Amino acid sequence: MTSYTELGLVNTKELFKKAVSGGYAIPAYNFNNMEQLQSIIQACVETKSPVILQVSNGARKYANQNILKNMAKGATEYAHELGYDIPVVLHLDHGSSFELCKDCIESGFSSVMIDGSHLPYDENVALTKKVCEFAHSQKDYVTVEGELGQLAGVEDDVSSEHSHYTQPSEVVDFVSKTKVDSLAISIGTSHGRMKFKPDQCTKTPDGILIPPPLRFDILEEIEKKLPGFPIVLHGSSSVPIEYVHMIEKYGGKLSDSVGIPEEQLRKAAKSAVCKINIDSDGRLAMTAIMRKVLVEKPEEFDPRNILGPARDELKKLYAHKNQNVLGSAGQA
Ligand SMILES: [Zn+2]
Repeated sequence: MTSYTELGLVNTKELFKKAVSGGYAIPAYNFNNMEQLQSIIQACVETKSPVILQVSNGARKYANQNILKNMAKGATEYAHELGYDIPVVLHLDHGSSFELCKDCIESGFSSVMIDGSHLPYDENVALTKKVCEFAHSQKDYVTVEGELGQLAGVEDDVSSEHSHYTQPSEVVDFVSKTKVDSLAISIGTSHGRMKFKPDQCTKTPDGILIPPPLRFDILEEIEKKLPGFPIVLHGSSSVPIEYVHMIEKYGGKLSDSVGIPEEQLRKAAKSAVCKINIDSDGRLAMTAIMRKVLVEKPEEFDPRNILGPARDELKKLYAHKNQNVLGSAGQA
């Protein structure tokens, strides 16, 4: 049994309170390997941003839970070594069961998501409540994110063909019955790099797909019903076209890629949205640079010379997100 305070981590409570009142969002970046973690910490220290390190169940299986826990501890020590102690949260992304959430809480996570959004409403309430009771009764309070409404798209072991917008009429009942600390909602974001089908989008003259706008009307209604309550957006990568083009130039094939425009995320971050999840953009940045290096330097076989430049690009991307999209720069 490890408490997150032993790892130098914090829960989301204070971070969200400040983010909601300050009109910015905390970045939630997924990681499963060392280079990703290094780039996240470098970017967040450099921009003085708090950060949520996010681990899916798939990442936990991939990297091993003990290694991940110690990586999170290493991340807080690394920030310190770089000269600025930013607040770091270790968060379970899309927890699928009470047992998984409990296991993560007992191994040092400071925050968990229980995703019962695919269940009938009453079952979602019961499951989320059970996780909250356990998480909140820990010696060090562990924060819990719940979800209402469903996102389309694919993310590790989470997938759904259609999106179902969050019903504003349900949010007050859900939050008061479960006691969740934050709520993920569905207003048109989507998991993965193909967030919309081409026929849902309009096309610019140079062939770039523009997705339908987020449903800010639903977000506003939810904010009115839950004033000041922390709201979370999943599936919020922008899928930069430069990376898609670079990947395709160097032999990849990523047709019909489309993301959420950064201006829309910036607008959301200024509202009660205080956590924005970004995973696909990081995958694209790393893959683009790795493909470029491998094609341009066919003699290269030292993984450091392939992953190192990818790590540098990822750091640049995350610093940009903190500064220009989420507004979290300077808030640590
Ligand atoms: Zn998600």
